[in-house]
Amino acid sequence: MKDSILVINCGSSSLKFAILANAGQNTLVEGIADRLGSSESTITFKHGGQKLEIPLPDGSHKSAVTQIKEWLNNNPTIENTLIGLGHRVVHGGETFTESALINDTVIEGIRDCAKFAPLHNPAHVKGIEVAFELFPGLPQIAVFDTAFHQTLAQEQYLYPIPMSLYRDHHFRKYGFHGTSYRYISQHLGKITKTSDQQGVLVAHLGNGASVCAIDKGQSSDTSMGITPLEGLMMGTRSGSLDPSLLSFISQAENISSDEALSILNSKSGLLGVSEISNDCRTLEEAMVSGDQRAKLALDMFAARTAKHLASVATTLESIDHLVFTGGIGENSSYLRQVICQHLKALNIKIDTTLNSSAPRGEMSNISDQSGHVNIWIIPTNEELMIALDTISLIQH
Ligand code: AMP
Repeated sequence: MKDSILVINCGSSSLKFAILANAGQNTLVEGIADRLGSSESTITFKHGGQKLEIPLPDGSHKSAVTQIKEWLNNNPTIENTLIGLGHRVVHGGETFTESALINDTVIEGIRDCAKFAPLHNPAHVKGIEVAFELFPGLPQIAVFDTAFHQTLAQEQYLYPIPMSLYRDHHFRKYGFHGTSYRYISQHLGKITKTSDQQGVLVAHLGNGASVCAIDKGQSSDTSMGITPLEGLMMGTRSGSLDPSLLSFISQAENISSDEALSILNSKSGLLGVSEISNDCRTLEEAMVSGDQRAKLALDMFAARTAKHLASVATTLESIDHLVFTGGIGENSSYLRQVICQHLKALNIKIDTTLNSSAPRGEMSNISDQSGHVNIWIIPTNEELMIALDTISLIQH
């Protein structure tokens, strides 16, 4: 059947892709081009239980998309089912409040937002332009990480700085992981058979991590800001801290403010505190073998996640559901438990047995009956959301 979507998630040094058929329900092929920009770059295809790795000697985004096109040429039964392409775009600024059919104006809009996402948006534009060249007959859609949070009220998205900085430069909170939050909100609606759950808290915990409050299906507050640096402690990002630290670090270490910022983005978080790794699984293993710094990093991560959940909850009338998602949220029973321990005052109570025995990769309810909040693990599916948006915009 002619119903497949090629989903492309183009990062600065990687390009993930998947082809989803049957209203996004079946993944026909998926893969990743890694280490783009270097001569060691490769692209991997996973299809029908087989894995195929091909070197990309020039390491460019263009050669990655060209390889996908060549793979499709060799697999015409899949190529012939394609009806469109969906691109994940990190920053849509205030211009994009929902997904958009890509034309020259949309590409210009994505370029305009590059000042807030200098590593990501230019890579997205590259991916889109190459895809137009190689798939000339197919419509393309952009799905923005920021769009879901465009429903925030002014008192939530404005920073308490001179208004002229917002008026002249659009400096404000944008928030990210919006495609994941939209998926979770819709999926939860299906599970609980309501389309407008009152108050939902979601913790999207992965290498990048944020929380979101969803009021009757709309984002009412989120922890990330103008960039993904604000909010939670993450794999390598510090999250929120006193902004004065930036100038203290640059003076003390005799480095520029950009270099100091790069410490907060790339050398902080779980990695910075543990001095071992940014990877939660590695840190949990170290903690189990008695490493105190690994435990401290994980416990700080949990405490700060709980603090931000409580903070965004102030925009809800009630807390009816708490959802954990993302690589850490879906898999770390330790962090889920410690986060919930910090939230006892909000009547959030986790069932420790259900939590530790939750099946991998599946949705489950892990709340203690005596609590007032349903606690869920729901695996996120951003690719599905992108495929569904693409289908819906193509059909309009
Ligand atoms: P993501 O960015 O959503 O892919 O999530 C990546 C994070 O999830 C990494 O920190 C992984 O260590 C963590 N993660 C994945 N599987 C597990 C696991 N079984 N236990 C603990 N953390 C995990």
